[in-house]
Amino acid sequence: MRFTGGVLRITRSLRFRLALSYVFFFTIALILIGGFVRYSLEHIMANQAEDAVDEEWGAVKGYLTVEKYGPDWFYDAYDPDESFIVSRLQRVFFLADSEGKPLLRSEIYKSIGFESPEEIKAVLKSGNTRVLRIRYDHGTPYLIRSGRWVDNQRVFYLAIGRSLAEDHHVFSRFERDYLLLLPGVIAVCCLLGWFMAGRSLDPLNSVSRTAQRITSSNLNTQISTRGAGDELDHLIETFNGMMERLNRSFEQIRQFSTDVSHELRTPLTVIRGQLEVALFTATTQDQYREAMENALEEVERLSSIVRALLLLSQSETGQLVLQKSEIDLSEMVRDVVDQFQIPAEAQGVRLSADTPEHCVIHGDRIQMERLLSNLLSNAVKYTPASGEVVVRLAADHSQVTLDVEDTGVGIPVEHLPHIFERFYRVPSADPEKGLGLGLSFVAWIVKAHGGTIEVHSRVSGGTQFRVCLPTGEIESSPASPPALAAREQ
Ligand code: ADP
Repeated sequence: MRFTGGVLRITRSLRFRLALSYVFFFTIALILIGGFVRYSLEHIMANQAEDAVDEEWGAVKGYLTVEKYGPDWFYDAYDPDESFIVSRLQRVFFLADSEGKPLLRSEIYKSIGFESPEEIKAVLKSGNTRVLRIRYDHGTPYLIRSGRWVDNQRVFYLAIGRSLAEDHHVFSRFERDYLLLLPGVIAVCCLLGWFMAGRSLDPLNSVSRTAQRITSSNLNTQISTRGAGDELDHLIETFNGMMERLNRSFEQIRQFSTDVSHELRTPLTVIRGQLEVALFTATTQDQYREAMENALEEVERLSSIVRALLLLSQSETGQLVLQKSEIDLSEMVRDVVDQFQIPAEAQGVRLSADTPEHCVIHGDRIQMERLLSNLLSNAVKYTPASGEVVVRLAADHSQVTLDVEDTGVGIPVEHLPHIFERFYRVPSADPEKGLGLGLSFVAWIVKAHGGTIEVHSRVSGGTQFRVCLPTGEIESSPASPPALAAREQ
């Protein structure tokens, strides 16, 4: 059982599959190469045999002649070259007259078997001088060239041939050796494939080993790259990047828990103090009332923190569904700016809006109001006395642009890429400690409406947030002069 499990695990492993495909393709390649070499060899040898038999056909003319008393070979028997050539020609040889009657033949040709007189007459009638055939003598193949042959103006049937035994021997030796060698080469290939696949997957195993060791307490663990710049290095870099992001998120959540506890502790302590006052020290109705009012204020603060947390979790889990309807953004901007006039005045900040008369968009009223008040409350909060905050709204045929500009403290450039992250706060710039959630809500609302948001800021030079919303379902009226008056303090 355990053995079967082990085998199953190996056969399912990436290493096994990689090695197997490597061996598979290599074997196919070897078989194709072997087949191709065998085919080329056969082709070359067949051509060579045909050339040789053609050459011998030409040579017969010089040595064979048919006299009145019959055919005979004429050559210088003392010349070793001539004797060799003629003896080679005489080995596989057959001569017949025009009626198909055999005149001269070699012993080998006798065993191969003569052509019938009908066959001979048919060849002679066709006038063909080059009929190539392979014929066998007790299993030995011979390439035979036969055809019409003219000597002293008389027509004969001539057939000469040469043995192909040597060629066939070469083929079968090649085939035998190749087939014997193939399993050995494939076996070596298996070992090599297994080894190479193992080596190339090593970094992957190290990634998985490291991943197994990671818990929430050592999220800063990094795997070192091999410097090869390949896919695995890319994977390791991606993994390290993911770990970095996770670590940052965990850090933020940890920080958030600490911040939330602090935020909740203060109002709770105040409430407790006020209740104790009411219970143990208050004697008059006014004292009771004051204690209750103070406690209620803190309860309000507690509720707003809890609301923000709830909203955040709903937007993160996709439970917050936009309730879209036609809304006049110009009117909304003017209303929200109106609401912020009192805190702005209290802070000595001039607040104004510059909007077209109407700018109707298809959006979620509550979320758009939340977007505006988050941006405006930040702008007012981070602008010192005698500064200015302007909200501008403009629309063209493709998009609506909302700018919230202030002349406040600005945001240091190194913090700019992070301000839309949850719980992110610029440490020194917070006059009133917030939860660092306002802008992440703004970013979520913009995204949910299919828009974009960008920020430009300079330390002590002010900040501009620009929200662009597409006009897919948006209609707008032509711009009119600034609608709301600026207030100065
Ligand atoms: P918070 O509730 O803490 O204000 P936000 O998400 O709204 O959180 O903002 C994140 C950080 O961005 C803030 O801590 C603040 O430092 C910075 N910030 C946002 N708006 C402005 C602005 N108009 N001027 C300067 N700093 C800003």
